[in-house]
Amino acid sequence: DIFRKYISEGTEIGKKANLDGDSFHYSNTVNSTINLTNDVIVSQSNKQPNDDYKRLKFLGEGSYASVYCVQKRLTDSKRAMKVINKNLLIRKKQLKYAVGECSVLKKCDCPFIVKLYYSFQTLENLYMVEEYCPGGDLQYHLKINLLEEEEAKFYISELILAIEHLHDLNIIYRDLKPENILIGEDNHIILADFGLAKEGIQGNSLSQSFCGSPAYLPPETLNMKGVGKSGDIYGIGAVLYEMISGTPPFFSNEIAVLFNKIKN
Ligand code: ADP
Ligand code: MG
Repeated sequence: DIFRKYISEGTEIGKKANLDGDSFHYSNTVNSTINLTNDVIVSQSNKQPNDDYKRLKFLGEGSYASVYCVQKRLTDSKRAMKVINKNLLIRKKQLKYAVGECSVLKKCDCPFIVKLYYSFQTLENLYMVEEYCPGGDLQYHLKINLLEEEEAKFYISELILAIEHLHDLNIIYRDLKPENILIGEDNHIILADFGLAKEGIQGNSLSQSFCGSPAYLPPETLNMKGVGKSGDIYGIGAVLYEMISGTPPFFSNEIAVLFNKIKN
């Protein structure tokens, strides 16, 4: 049933899907303010993000967000601004994940994890102002050039440090894939996109949610046994494989075939 729902929702391979069973009650959140961080709240009535930030260029988009390079007015510091439409989040029952993303990023302090400077909202959108990674994402780089083994070793070590930091905080990431791994100003990797990260995973405890990106789902998730920190370890392996070979370890355009390959 889960697989059928997956397909009927038209999820593309490589894109994110979230079939988390528990529904989120959003009836009050449409109009009321959700204070995502204590740093900045843009008044919903008369102030817009453009008043504070000049949009320089479009950087990329994922399943829910569009990301722009912006410049804070009166300074020359560049930032990445992630814009997520609230109606879309509510329609797809993803609002709690955006709130979770801010909560997780506020707890992290690691050079290989993207820094969140501010978050705020207008009536239509949620905004996250993050560290700008001028090197783009790893998916883009792998389309142009695969990595040599030595380079792959270097980057994967940094990714391991990022995941280790999260696991020490009892957070699991759940969405490892080249698209979410960015290259920072000094050419080190920066893990971004914490939309599926989950807090409170102590020791070997498991999350029962069925979520992630199809081609990168660990067998634990597909076998419906619940997934914990081990799912991220599998993800590190999948990313390393793709760094040197150019494709995820298991692949098919047919989702049932893909899942079968991963499980077996
Ligand atoms: P989604 O949650 O919708 O998947 P992401 O946070 O993954 O959104 O961002 C989508 C894309 O935008 C990324 O794959 C990357 O190309 C680009 N991007 C995101 N954050 C940054 C950043 N801090 N600096 C530069 N580019 C970014
Ligand atoms: Mg993403």
